[in-house]
Amino acid sequence: MRELMIRGALAAAILLPLASHAAAPTVVDDAALGDQTQGHNWLGYGRTHHEQRFSPLDQVNAGNVGKLGVAWSLDLPEDRSLTATPLVVDGVMYFNGSYARTRAVDAKTGKILWEHDPKVFETAEDRARILWDWNRGVAYWKGMVYVATPDGRLIALDAKSGQEVWAAQTFEPSKPLFISGAPRVFRDKVLIGNGGTEWGAARGFVTAYDAATGKQAWRFWTVPGNPADGFENKAMEMAAKTWTGEWWKFGGGGTVWHGMTYDPEFNRVYIGTGNGSPWNQKMRSPGGGDNLFLCSIVALDADTGEYVWHYQTVPGETWDYNSNMDIVLADLVIEDKPVKALMHAPKNGYFYVIDRSTGKLVSAKPFGKVDWATGIDMTTGRPIEREGARYEDGEEIVWPGPFGTHNWPAMSFNQDTGLVYIPSIEMAGVYNDKYTKPQAWKSPDFKFDPGVDFLRADGPADWGSSSLRAWDPVQQKLVWEVPTPGVWNAGTLTTKGGLVFQGRADGKLVAYAADTGKVLWDISLGLGISAPAVTYAIDGTQYIAQLVGWGGSMTATGGNMAAQHGWSYGAQPRRLVVFALDGKASLPKMPAPVFAKPLHDAEFVVFEELAERGSFVWKESCGMCHGPAGTAGGFAPDLRASAVMLDKKALHQVVFDGALRARGMPNFKDVSEGDLEAVQHFIRREAHKQQLNTP
Ligand code: CA
Repeated sequence: MRELMIRGALAAAILLPLASHAAAPTVVDDAALGDQTQGHNWLGYGRTHHEQRFSPLDQVNAGNVGKLGVAWSLDLPEDRSLTATPLVVDGVMYFNGSYARTRAVDAKTGKILWEHDPKVFETAEDRARILWDWNRGVAYWKGMVYVATPDGRLIALDAKSGQEVWAAQTFEPSKPLFISGAPRVFRDKVLIGNGGTEWGAARGFVTAYDAATGKQAWRFWTVPGNPADGFENKAMEMAAKTWTGEWWKFGGGGTVWHGMTYDPEFNRVYIGTGNGSPWNQKMRSPGGGDNLFLCSIVALDADTGEYVWHYQTVPGETWDYNSNMDIVLADLVIEDKPVKALMHAPKNGYFYVIDRSTGKLVSAKPFGKVDWATGIDMTTGRPIEREGARYEDGEEIVWPGPFGTHNWPAMSFNQDTGLVYIPSIEMAGVYNDKYTKPQAWKSPDFKFDPGVDFLRADGPADWGSSSLRAWDPVQQKLVWEVPTPGVWNAGTLTTKGGLVFQGRADGKLVAYAADTGKVLWDISLGLGISAPAVTYAIDGTQYIAQLVGWGGSMTATGGNMAAQHGWSYGAQPRRLVVFALDGKASLPKMPAPVFAKPLHDAEFVVFEELAERGSFVWKESCGMCHGPAGTAGGFAPDLRASAVMLDKKALHQVVFDGALRARGMPNFKDVSEGDLEAVQHFIRREAHKQQLNTP
């Protein structure tokens, strides 16, 4: 409190809006979501409609951040992956955890006010095999909280009670799709898309629902369907001219699983579209073509969902370079001209500044190691691809790989420094389609098969590296960079206090000086952090909130790269930790990192031929959760260390009878007896091989 009195002038700026909220609760509408000046609430996924994740709060600042301490914490023992951005409305925090369980918590004390469990496992049945459990956030609008479940439901909850008001099924349950993203709200509508494309034929779309009733308002498909069925609109007719072959049989792709931004100035919504279904263009659209609107930013009229403009970052995509990453709006001055800018750093490694009034590219420069293209032609806005990048001549190492130079962990934009803070990855992909016959390829059905191999087996722990990059979007250049551990670090928060916060793969939450990247404060939270921090204020105190719970695709599929931190499945409890200046609360102790020790069984004789067959079954059905070659990244148990793999009866009960379904292990009734045995031989081979390799 002493700090607060010294900084009285600054505190007054925080107290003013608080005084008004005490009198009247905040009406969360477009005016509130568009207001960048208020700091006590965090109303939307990217804080405001602009998605800058820049807070005007400055009570915690570069001068005093060293005094940050724990104000309160809340253990979440039933949760697994925590990736969400919590929202804060008038002193109440709303966030979701695993399987879209949503909680409302008193943001000053941590007291749980209500919980809502959509009971995903009761509705998902066998499709649960493609349901990663994480969820990136809820939305709030006029007293209602909106949550999208992995099995495709959009649910409206009363913010006071947590009671369900309405629910809509957003895609056909028979389709191999899922939702991990946060809905967006604007103009009394809730917008949601979905993920997919790697587990079967998927055609991307977004749907807007009436916020009060759940009635569908509009839907926009991102890629054309079969022309014989007619086109939904002129945009689809235009897009179809950029496809060849019978793409609709494979879905085409372009799912909208993450980035969506409402622009209050133009009353438009910008959606970031996904990669192809399948990734490999040789199967999807064998005669080439740009394949609109894959890997694009598409601007839609917010009221009608009608196409306005698009910019495609990867024409004819064939590497999983989706453009689903966050879409940030800001007013920039470039070459003395004001620009209504849209900033986007997709997987492909280029940082794009687009004039959002027209959709025209302003500038694009690589912000990491990129070699699929040598640059962007500014007259056409198209990438200049290098020869061989499309693995047309066989196996090809391409930078970046499918995890991208930037994935969904959010970047933030600081209005004072003018810098964008990007959690960056440096990792190549080894693309190879010689094992698949393009003509004979068929879409999988709830099995992993993107139509190309990108890494035959697991890479070493140092296959990828990462850093936090401060990028100047006007000059398109790197201003500072600090290395970060491993490859999978969380999104960033930046504040008027001259700070950047980032949670990291090694379990540290770090505060950097926004202008120089100097480390000003850090704390070890004992578990890998994958969620972005947020900040808010109550009664004159600024808080920083951080969900601690290793999650996201890298924790499931990253193998050795993810396993290196020791966040072993079930070892460390998940937690919400909230900080304030001079916070004095203590945290319950976290168990130390655990590294899986492959079980030894001298009697098990591995048949190499069976193990080899098992490696393919593993890749299709097991590896996306348990790790690409047996080393698990923490999301699911490491089966080299599992006694179940040595006990045929137990294995049957788990795989065929759903014995561990409640804990997240789906049924795989379609795996044959012989294939299961092959998997067993595969995992025992890996256990023997890697027994001496674990740290
Ligand atoms: Ca993808």
